[in-house]
Amino acid sequence: MKKYFTTPIYYVNDVPHIGHTYCTLATDTFARYWRKKLGKENVFFLTGTDENSQKTVEAAQKSGKPIDQYLEEISHTWRKTWDQIGISYDDFIRTTEKRHVQTVHEILTKIHDAGDIYKSQYEGLYCTGCEAFLKKSDLDGNGHCPDHKKAPQKIQEENYFFRLSKYQEPLLELFSKNPNLLRPEKRRNEVLSFIRGGLEDISISRENAEFGIPLPWDEGHKIYVWFDALINYRSACPGEDFWAGVCHILGKDITRFHSVIWPAMLLSAGIAPPAEEFAHGFFTVNGEKMSKSLGNVISPVDLTEKYGRDALRMGLLSAFEFGNDGDFSLDGFHDLYAKKLAGGVGNLFNRVIVLIHKFLEGKSPASVVGSDYNPPIQFEKCLETNKIREAIQLFFSEVDRANERLNETEPWKLAKTDLPAAEKVFAQLIPMLATLTEMAEVLLPETFPKMKKMLGDEQKVGEPEILFPRVDR
Ligand SMILES: [Zn+2]
Repeated sequence: MKKYFTTPIYYVNDVPHIGHTYCTLATDTFARYWRKKLGKENVFFLTGTDENSQKTVEAAQKSGKPIDQYLEEISHTWRKTWDQIGISYDDFIRTTEKRHVQTVHEILTKIHDAGDIYKSQYEGLYCTGCEAFLKKSDLDGNGHCPDHKKAPQKIQEENYFFRLSKYQEPLLELFSKNPNLLRPEKRRNEVLSFIRGGLEDISISRENAEFGIPLPWDEGHKIYVWFDALINYRSACPGEDFWAGVCHILGKDITRFHSVIWPAMLLSAGIAPPAEEFAHGFFTVNGEKMSKSLGNVISPVDLTEKYGRDALRMGLLSAFEFGNDGDFSLDGFHDLYAKKLAGGVGNLFNRVIVLIHKFLEGKSPASVVGSDYNPPIQFEKCLETNKIREAIQLFFSEVDRANERLNETEPWKLAKTDLPAAEKVFAQLIPMLATLTEMAEVLLPETFPKMKKMLGDEQKVGEPEILFPRVDR
């Protein structure tokens, strides 16, 4: 079995904030879990930047730089951010790359050859913020895009259209055959009712766009940015065996693109539709929507520099259930760091290893006495069903269990009167620490090697270390 995980590709005119980071960290966690289970060579993790947008042109103009240079610099910023916070992507795609343009042309040609593209007059409303056509019914009371609070442009031009309407029944059939096509259930139901409501053909080209990928059979038209962007998942796919295990992780705002248009495009081109899709929710920061104007946009790099990479992971991924909406607060984040990471895991490992050095001269107790310890079996299942928060909760409850055992048995007292009894306590604690270390390989990849080193080998434990140093609020 092979697994291929993707994040959405991010618009270059954005700077990476913790919303993008949330999605990317979740995908990273799945990739790490499956690498551990299936082997590194059987997992592929893709992220990248979406560059063929009209917004790109505007942002480049604003920055006063030529488009190529602007794109180069901004996509580098994205890549660097993911490197700084420890994202283990295998490939980073930019949609201005040759390999992508080539795949877009191949797929568009197949769709064209299948008779699913035709030319017609388009008249309608377009929001450049959304990079999407809107219906009158999508607008708010002022006739504005509800997300961008701006009136959409009225567009009248010759466009190429994709026969999406033809795929209503095939899509419904696909959904009934594949329960993993979109999860969680509520997102799946939304999309199903959208499909059942009837699908309209969609415009897939822009006649007057300055920037973008030209249509292979009519160079005067640029391909609609979403139609090109979705194809990135194929452009970077390392092989059909990986495609069979593809899982798109996405935000709840882009399910129609991923679960309606994308599978229909693939059906038309004669390519297997995605095996799995999961849409996560959005979060507020201290109860408010994150926005530049409110000044509450949090940089993932700032948090990482202050608290470390693993803290950022745990803070974001444990804040609320993956798939739901929720809130992230800096106070809650700091508390998690102080209580669960520094005070929980860090304290546990440090205390146990220090005590073993003190009373057993660093000798590994596991080699002396057996153990009746049962590790938490639900952990794998959680990660295989996208329940990241539950997996983290299992980790922390295991930390609590070990700390409680330590506090109840007080081996530091016991060792003075009954050393073999104290050694037995340590022998029970070591397998718990070993299990936590296994879990940390997926959840706390930066701390994992330190935990492993502290555990040592069958003969001796390692040197004690401070895993999570004190950080002031
Ligand atoms: Zn909009």
